[in-house]
Amino acid sequence: MTKTYANLIDGELVTTAATMEVLNPANEQVVGLVPSCGADELDRAVAAARKAFKTWSKRPIDERRAVIQAMAGVIKENADELFRLLTTEQGKPHEQAKGEIYGAAGLMAAQSTLSLEEEIIEDSDTRLHRSRRVPVGVVGGIVPWNFPVMMAMQKIAPAMLSGCTIVLKPSPFTPLTTLRIAELIKDVVPAGVVNVITGEDSLGPLITGHPDIDKITFTGSTATGKKIMEGASKDLKRITLELGGNDASIVLPDANVAKVAEQLFWSSFSNAGQICVAAKRVYIHEDIYDELSAAIAEYAKGVKVGDGSEQGTGVGPIQNKKQFDRVCELIEDAKANGYKFLVGGDVDPSGSGYYVPITILDNPPEDARIVAEEQFGPVMPLMKFSTTEEVIERANNSDYGLAGAVWTGDTDKGVEIAEQLETGTVWVNEYLHLSPFAPFGGHKQSGFGAEYGVEGLKEFTYSQVITVKKNAMA
Ligand code: NAD
Repeated sequence: MTKTYANLIDGELVTTAATMEVLNPANEQVVGLVPSCGADELDRAVAAARKAFKTWSKRPIDERRAVIQAMAGVIKENADELFRLLTTEQGKPHEQAKGEIYGAAGLMAAQSTLSLEEEIIEDSDTRLHRSRRVPVGVVGGIVPWNFPVMMAMQKIAPAMLSGCTIVLKPSPFTPLTTLRIAELIKDVVPAGVVNVITGEDSLGPLITGHPDIDKITFTGSTATGKKIMEGASKDLKRITLELGGNDASIVLPDANVAKVAEQLFWSSFSNAGQICVAAKRVYIHEDIYDELSAAIAEYAKGVKVGDGSEQGTGVGPIQNKKQFDRVCELIEDAKANGYKFLVGGDVDPSGSGYYVPITILDNPPEDARIVAEEQFGPVMPLMKFSTTEEVIERANNSDYGLAGAVWTGDTDKGVEIAEQLETGTVWVNEYLHLSPFAPFGGHKQSGFGAEYGVEGLKEFTYSQVITVKKNAMA
């Protein structure tokens, strides 16, 4: 019988009469049922979070740290069960699922060590003028399906540390592992501090519009981010938006082809390309284009696409049918326009599971849809460039501004280019490395605000300035 997972509201495990099915993208089988919540369940969760906020926000920060660390410990202790469940609902290979579970626990533990120090603006004979941070209140967290656990925990931990309480909504495609974690942490976290409720996309606007939620922290597509900003504007909720990207990687002629080929490959194909900061446009200098593109294509031949629970799988299925159809549409568009494929491009329509083969395109034009749009799938367009000025302009010619990378034997040159890219993060000679202590956020339409680090923590707070005139009554 298919297992039904419960929501966590006010410290209780709760189910609803209406449920939603969760599929395994590797075979389209139902692997779990979850509550389908609406306004009533949301009201209960928000009321619980509001009640818990009164006491949680007053607890010393070291006690809040200890609770977050205990949660991280519970996740680590149960990592074996959790990573397998994550592969079942998300599709990513076991090794990558393990990385996400341990990564989420590590991130929580690291974030729990952050502090928001008071700032003394003036401490003179006449005045004490200080600035401190106070929690905003009840947070609504909304997360996507590509890194469901990491995204949930990177919102829950700083919200809790700041003194806020949270109502979190996982993606309807990938709620299971988060709900299992909610069940496991139930007795570690005070009732109402963390609430997890599941529902269709339609639950999202109810959260955004809820009058007793003070802040929305969202990760997902730019299109949804815009709707959230609009919804949150009604009562001026605080918002943090981590949105889409169309990241450029730039490979200079002095890059070591043998070393770069494998890393470039995984910068595009990890998690089947479903990473906001995946390399989605790869610009290679014309002097090494043929050699490097051949090396990447050769490496790709050795990578197995398949069920993430099978030994040796490097690239799993696309997570859901809607995204699968979108990636197939972009590939079909490339074919219809006669663009050249170095690898892949032929999706097998028979059988079950949302599999797209590793697909690498040979120098499609800049305005090809597969270059200009975020593919969010196992697709890598390689493009030739001639000059640094030209490639910087091409890289920046996007409404997105999430991340980018430069690959070169000359790191000074790499940094010089990095500083000219209009993105929130740029890597030189590596990729996907994010620090829990550095702000992560997008420029332009890739986001609003930041997560991680002190800057990310501040987003769950207001500033409050207290000014005391000394000896005024003397
Ligand atoms: P999505 O925007 O479709 O959904 C994200 C979440 O929003 C889901 O929980 C969904 O149920 C909810 N939602 C849908 N409509 C809503 C509405 N009107 N109001 C409120 N909530 C609503 O995104 P997705 O397809 O799940 O994720 C893929 C996208 O996320 C990609 O564009 C990717 O680049 C982006 N992403 C960004 C980051 C980042 O940190 N910048 C990280 C991961 C993914």
